Amino acid sequence: MRLSNSLFSLFKHVKRETVMGLKSPEQKSGHLVVPGERLGVIEEFIPDSGTFVKDGVIFSKIVGRSLVDLQNRRVSVYPAVEGAVVPKVGSIVVGQIGNAQSDNVLVRIFKVGNKKISGEFGGILHISDVSDRYVTVMGDVCKTGDIVRAKVISEKNRIFHLSTNDKSLGIVDAFCSRDGTLLDPDRYDLRCPKCGNIEKRKLAPDYGKEAI
Ligand SMILES: [Zn+2]
Repeated sequence: MRLSNSLFSLFKHVKRETVMGLKSPEQKSGHLVVPGERLGVIEEFIPDSGTFVKDGVIFSKIVGRSLVDLQNRRVSVYPAVEGAVVPKVGSIVVGQIGNAQSDNVLVRIFKVGNKKISGEFGGILHISDVSDRYVTVMGDVCKTGDIVRAKVISEKNRIFHLSTNDKSLGIVDAFCSRDGTLLDPDRYDLRCPKCGNIEKRKLAPDYGKEAI
């Protein structure tokens, strides 16, 4: 009994060392995780509450603290109640413009307030929420790849609906649609320092100054 106990603790110790030896930061308990964050693989762990599995990889389903139970080989995520950086209605967020349609664009949110988030949240900016002024072409507001500062006006099914309808909000970095060069402010428009192309955006007042 005594021997098997000490063997067991030795085994536990060895297992622990092995796991630590993998140097996977995602396998540390108490790590703050966001939806879609990798937690481990099913060869090593049994996925538990707050997780999902895709192609053998365990991901977090929620924002929370990961709990890695090395003895039972279980990984779970407990909802974070405080300190988590998650967009809320009213949050100012920064993101990159993704797929653009004629009346809306998708935004990959990577910053909430001044804090970068390690995961990603999806946002959508509709043409009616761009500005007080009547906007007819989304391409005059933003283009795919641009960086936008926006406000979260609603949330439904984890999709954050965004608005740039405020003087402080809008595009903070834009890229030439011909050659991808970062555009320079030029009076009321933007100008490509490489090819001279003039482009329009719904600009934030501090265009080019947001720390990405
Ligand atoms: Zn250019």
